Amino acid sequence: MSNKTITRDQLATLLDRLVEKNRVIAPVSDNRGVVRFGEIQKAGDIAWGFDQAKVPAKSHFLPQTEELYRYDTSGGELKIEPVPPPRPAVIFGLHPCDLKAVAALDPVFDGAFKDVYYLNKRERTVIIGLSCRKVLPTCFCRSYGIEPTDGQGADLMLTEAGDGYYVEILTPKGEALIRDNAPLFSDAGVAEGRRAKDALAGELAGQFQLNVDLTGVKAKVDTMFEHPYWQELARKCLGCGICTYLCPTCHCFDIIESHSGHRGCRLRCWDSCMFADFTLHTSSHNPRSTKKERVRNRFLHKLSYHDERYGLAGCVGCGRCIAECPVNIDITQIIADIEEVD
Ligand code: SF4
Ligand code: SF4
Repeated sequence: MSNKTITRDQLATLLDRLVEKNRVIAPVSDNRGVVRFGEIQKAGDIAWGFDQAKVPAKSHFLPQTEELYRYDTSGGELKIEPVPPPRPAVIFGLHPCDLKAVAALDPVFDGAFKDVYYLNKRERTVIIGLSCRKVLPTCFCRSYGIEPTDGQGADLMLTEAGDGYYVEILTPKGEALIRDNAPLFSDAGVAEGRRAKDALAGELAGQFQLNVDLTGVKAKVDTMFEHPYWQELARKCLGCGICTYLCPTCHCFDIIESHSGHRGCRLRCWDSCMFADFTLHTSSHNPRSTKKERVRNRFLHKLSYHDERYGLAGCVGCGRCIAECPVNIDITQIIADIEEVD
């Protein structure tokens, strides 16, 4: 199927229509103006002018709190009630770095151990990507080989063009969505849409203020496990964990139980390797008992371990951790430092 165009009004109609049979997730602004991916009831709920959602799209595939199952022990007998399978979903508005981040999460949950909670949502979700409109001062995705108009990882990729959007159809899932809503899409203006996308790509490429050279960084950081640099860096870190909560590729979680009387449920909740008790053993031994070990782990994970395990970068250059760290710890500066230190 060849690429299409869609007007702004028709896109709103499409999203309104998709809400009838799917959970539709998109960037929404909460009452404090924080943009996060959340469920919408209508296209008008979307924070249309957003540049980057502060809370990334991982919150759909790996929710901050997720029920795994319910149980009931009344009558002395254990009854387990599984959670129903997720409704089909459409997630709209992922920028290229966030598309790449989902690809980085996939092998974590689809390895030797299959995580059905993640995989069911992944399988039943259509991803509609959206090219960036501008490059933020904290963006450095290009250093990771990602362009702000790349559609890799999306089922459909939309780019603003004129009064509407140029629509690239990238997978059978995307094709099915177009087929089911064919009257809303058009073949008119496709060549102009392609040209608008190329022009935007060129313009955005010139807007990057942050660029890092990753050549040799993994090899160097792999030799730095005992380096005093981590101690210095840790003195600054507050251990608040915001960098990991907002990072689209971070995926640590804890399992807890919530119960009342004989009934309860088991929950999976986001956790952070920056928290002191994250690696605390029942024996009270903690292999990462100081901030030095925790900070070191975070950066080794981003710059080495994820690549080693999955052959994919653990950072996509979205810049959220740079923008939100309360003490200005900046991963691009750390990459530069790693290149410099003896
Ligand atoms: S480490 Fe920072 S820049 Fe890299 S993906 Fe995570 S939040 Fe984005
Ligand atoms: S956001 Fe900054 S201060 Fe907070 S844990 Fe991360 S690096 Fe440390």
